[in-house]
Amino acid sequence: MTDGLKWLQCPICKETVYWKVPEKVLKNVKRFPTPVIIKHEDHYVVCYVDSHYQVADTEIASAFIEAKAKE
Ligand SMILES: [Zn+2]
Repeated sequence: MTDGLKWLQCPICKETVYWKVPEKVLKNVKRFPTPVIIKHEDHYVVCYVDSHYQVADTEIASAFIEAKAKE
């Protein structure tokens, strides 16, 4: 278990971003890796976090739109 700050180089603006894994939320996650969306300035970075709270992958999202599935 780690609750320290994590950091990554923002793939969009190349600045170092410090972020914290929301462990309380991750405890309820059943499947890993799970995406964590980090808002940075006016863009978003999607990190995939594995069950050890390590970053498995990052993705660029220049915009983030939450879609609602129709039932
Ligand atoms: Zn950035």
